[in-house]
Amino acid sequence: MSRPIGFHHTEITKGKIGIANFGENNGMWKGDLAKYKETARERTQRRFPLKICERCRTKKGFDRHHIDSNVFNNIKENILILCRSCHMIIDGRMERLHAVSLLQI
Ligand SMILES: [Zn+2]
Repeated sequence: MSRPIGFHHTEITKGKIGIANFGENNGMWKGDLAKYKETARERTQRRFPLKICERCRTKKGFDRHHIDSNVFNNIKENILILCRSCHMIIDGRMERLHAVSLLQI
């Protein structure tokens, strides 16, 4: 007899698997003192709080532009806080977007 396609565990089995892999029994368990490690993006966001766009000075800046294009170079001098449209203009995305939309007409 072949196994049915799309076989699912029963709710009881799912519960058993959950208990068996909880806490210390989980392969990813890092111990009681495990701490949440912030990502590079989160660290950058903490170090460079949002402000007004440095290019148009009208909209709120949500994007961090790396002047030398190196996303790992997060020194203050290499970061420009930009709104999304200014960021897309500066890094050339806006031009490419227009090129693509012209092709589709
Ligand atoms: Zn702007």
